[in-house]
Amino acid sequence: MTLSRLVLCAALGLAVLGGASAQEPKQELKIFDAHLHYNQEPTPFYDRDKVLEVFRRNNVTGILATSRPNKGTHQLMEVRGQNLWVVPFIRPYRQRSDIQTWFDDPAIWDLIQDEYKRGYYRGIGEGHIYGKAAAGEQVKRIVNFAVEKGLWLHMHCDEEALVLLFSHNPKARIIWAHTGFSTAPSRVAELLAQYPGLMGELSYRGGITAGGGRLSDEWRALFAKFSDRFLLGSDTWISERWFAYDTIMKTYREWLAQLPVDQARRIAHGNAERIFDGKVGE
Ligand SMILES: [Zn+2]
Repeated sequence: MTLSRLVLCAALGLAVLGGASAQEPKQELKIFDAHLHYNQEPTPFYDRDKVLEVFRRNNVTGILATSRPNKGTHQLMEVRGQNLWVVPFIRPYRQRSDIQTWFDDPAIWDLIQDEYKRGYYRGIGEGHIYGKAAAGEQVKRIVNFAVEKGLWLHMHCDEEALVLLFSHNPKARIIWAHTGFSTAPSRVAELLAQYPGLMGELSYRGGITAGGGRLSDEWRALFAKFSDRFLLGSDTWISERWFAYDTIMKTYREWLAQLPVDQARRIAHGNAERIFDGKVGE
């Protein structure tokens, strides 16, 4: 056997291990990144051209854009177009410390109202909220405002807070950042069944793959039942996540390749296209 044949056989072997099937499309799946921060305090880690290059080389052609402060999102909106679909969310933070206080700080309510006047926003978030803090008056006001204006909420929260958010208004539509990190898949299934307006975003979510990058049985079953309810995200909250961006997307692609193609497509970009009524770029 020649060396090139050996290499070919090894490649084929890997493809089989990766679960590639005859029906898999030749072109790489397009990805919608549903947890993108283009933070600027005071300047972004990568300039905009570099960020666009990162998206291009990963075939990320749609993003849920947020930034702290919102200036970064305004900049990304300037370059939306054929190659990049930008779905902007109002970040309820001016600076990092707002994470602790945004949910009952009247200045943040004003910030949301001011930003909303730009006319292009599709949601509010990412906001961090835990436990009973989600029961507060301003949180209720924000949830009701979102429902009234047809906005999504992007919430980094625990289960208790998630349930409280829906209790303010059952018509709320919430993207659950990190899908609870470690909430049992059986419980995630119950929550998805109970709240039709809930979507799970999968950055930092544990347990999806077991040893060797193989999709775990629990998550395979969860995706089989709820492939219309999950989104992928990078969560570029610190510069290290920009360094890791290629690896994050590669890891997603590795387990997506182990799913039936229709499920993989939904999770990669189809669900974002459905809930935001748009289309990822070319
Ligand atoms: Zn985040």
